[in-house]
Amino acid sequence: QRRIIPRDQHNISRKDFSRAALHVLYGLKDAGYDAYLVGGCLRDLLTGIKPKDFDVVTNATPEQIERVFRGARIIGRRFRLVHVRFKGDVIEVATFRALAGDDDHDDHLSRRSANGQILRDNVYGTIEEDALRRDFTCNALYYDIADFSLHDFADSLHDIEQRTLRLIGDPEQRYYEDPVRMIRAVRFAAKLDFDIDPDTEAPLSRLAPLLQQVPPARLFEEVLKLFLSGHGQRTFAILQRYGLFDALFPTTAEALADEDGASDLKLIHAAMRNTDQRLAQDKPVTPAFLFAVLLWPVLRRRLAFYLDHGMPPMQAMNKAAGQIMAEQVSVIAIPRRFSTVVREMWDLQLRLPRRAGNRAEQLMQHPRFRAAYDFLLLREEAGEIKPGLGEWWTRYQEAHPVDRDTLLASLS
Ligand code: ATP
Ligand code: MG
Repeated sequence: QRRIIPRDQHNISRKDFSRAALHVLYGLKDAGYDAYLVGGCLRDLLTGIKPKDFDVVTNATPEQIERVFRGARIIGRRFRLVHVRFKGDVIEVATFRALAGDDDHDDHLSRRSANGQILRDNVYGTIEEDALRRDFTCNALYYDIADFSLHDFADSLHDIEQRTLRLIGDPEQRYYEDPVRMIRAVRFAAKLDFDIDPDTEAPLSRLAPLLQQVPPARLFEEVLKLFLSGHGQRTFAILQRYGLFDALFPTTAEALADEDGASDLKLIHAAMRNTDQRLAQDKPVTPAFLFAVLLWPVLRRRLAFYLDHGMPPMQAMNKAAGQIMAEQVSVIAIPRRFSTVVREMWDLQLRLPRRAGNRAEQLMQHPRFRAAYDFLLLREEAGEIKPGLGEWWTRYQEAHPVDRDTLLASLS
């Protein structure tokens, strides 16, 4: 049930596409292949968002695509794709793929686990099959470079106009096939400000625990996209609504639920708002900051526990931080280059109050000083600790060296 919308009946035009995307589309067409733009870029254009990137699909195989373009390279992570380079831009080109069946395909190319989860999915197919294996209707629209028409296989256009996020096919089965789709539902609902269709929404709370079966490395990638989308605040609220936050950050969820959790919740909200603002201003944000915040509720409780048992502060910090990271990476594989920074930011929370002598100057030289200071301000804003220290550090950084001595003198 393909619906073709001719060029004079839709608002997508070639001037909306990047030069590189047009180069790839025409290159394939001129070589005799079918070539379409697909998915996110069309959805974004139709909802008034500037597309991040343009994805192309074709009936040409990766080897055939490679022969068409000088700047082409086959890459094979989860799927075999071709990257085509053009004037500093990269376009991802994929061959139409079919949904991996249970038994009708070569086991080498497609594989499922006992509960229906897709483990490998590399079977070529028709454009119809390619459309129906995609996750949401809004991600399954195609733009044909041959005649500038849109091809709609799943009432995609209707759902985009209604601002509805709807899984293609049977929602429960689609979540079982790939539990990451639950997180993607949240990401797109937040980014696009779409309502999740009731049938797509209904299984979320019940199936949230399926996320435990997703490889931690893949969850890390998806969680970054969630919180670095520029809509972190909305994302966090929706994750919580469906119990998905609990599945991703079990120890944090537990901390937030206790009688002391209110200020932690405020801290997370403040950090999300802060991150969203920075992204809106094109300022850099580090994943380490996010994880430092998201795990802080657990850290400060466990730190307090060891301190209460008489452990020296730095030792208590080391022990608590080590445990918490070990627990979290079994769900989300935070790479060491980030977890190291998280732990430095936490260490500095213990050190920032100790400013006497030349300590303040030394602290300011620390590569994580700025991040730790920003973090301190958020903790004060959230009411976790009484304000004062953040303000002192603000003045110290702004002060002329001579006045810094006065600020230090005021400590004693
Ligand atoms: P964004 O602009 O945020 O990158 P996107 O739609 O391009 O959004 P990607 O994660 O880049 O999202 O995926 C590209 C396309 O691949 C999607 O539009 C969707 O059609 C398809 N897709 C991605 N992940 C899945 C999945 N887990 N299951 C089914 N289809 C998927
Ligand atoms: Mg994309």
